[in-house]
Amino acid sequence: MTTQRLLNRRMAIAEMGKAGLAVVVFGAAACSDPAGTVSTTTAPGTIPSNTALADSTGGDATTTSPAAATTTAASAMTAFQRVSLDFVSAYILYRGGEAALVDTGVEGSASAIEAALGEAGLDWDSVGHVILTHKHPDHVGSVDEVMNQVPGATLYAGAPDIPQIDSAIVPQPVGDGDHVFDLEVIASPGHTAGHICVLDAAAGILVAGDAMVGANGGVTGPDPSFAEDIDLALDSVGKLAAFSYEVALFGHGEPVLEDASAAVSALAEG
Ligand SMILES: [Zn+2]
Repeated sequence: MTTQRLLNRRMAIAEMGKAGLAVVVFGAAACSDPAGTVSTTTAPGTIPSNTALADSTGGDATTTSPAAATTTAASAMTAFQRVSLDFVSAYILYRGGEAALVDTGVEGSASAIEAALGEAGLDWDSVGHVILTHKHPDHVGSVDEVMNQVPGATLYAGAPDIPQIDSAIVPQPVGDGDHVFDLEVIASPGHTAGHICVLDAAAGILVAGDAMVGANGGVTGPDPSFAEDIDLALDSVGKLAAFSYEVALFGHGEPVLEDASAAVSALAEG
């Protein structure tokens, strides 16, 4: 049963990877759906869910009771939308009509982000959280444009990078142990001192920023020529290998949609 479900999930993810940019993955948590199979969804480009959402991390306004999760399965799904901006990508993680934006791309990217929100059936009002993986201009370039569109949203970044982020709003510092929108923040220094990744543990999605790079359907290590401290950056790869996730999303390169943490483990050991 478990194996079959996992297989179906992987196949579904693989199919979605071929079909388009929007991919939904499911929590590996216990399932309360007696049928154990798919249910109807309404969001375009999504895969039906048979799992409940993670409700254990708490700490923000998105907390939902398990009972509610079983009756609103569609809102429990976590999906991502890639915002492909030439050589760099930003990502939208969303569930239940709410979204977190991870990175903002180069300057002038707000319209592309808005279009990607629309493809996911969302709009600016959906965005309650903007998370910056690190200070580099290809990740924070549109932060003011974005924050002007979402004045009620909270902006976050790793503390050591914040002094070098040129934004009208000073980001709130986050690091290990912090959760934003049920996403776990993982400090991953090296590429920059304040680099952070975010993990949706329930859905199995890691947004890796520039801690690693997507390459040929797999993952490769941080580029020494762009890392402030390559030894620290390699240590961070080892740290990220210790978590479990199916999907890894990178600032540069194509996402890994299957067995991503195994690929990162292999990279860390190599
Ligand atoms: Zn960078």
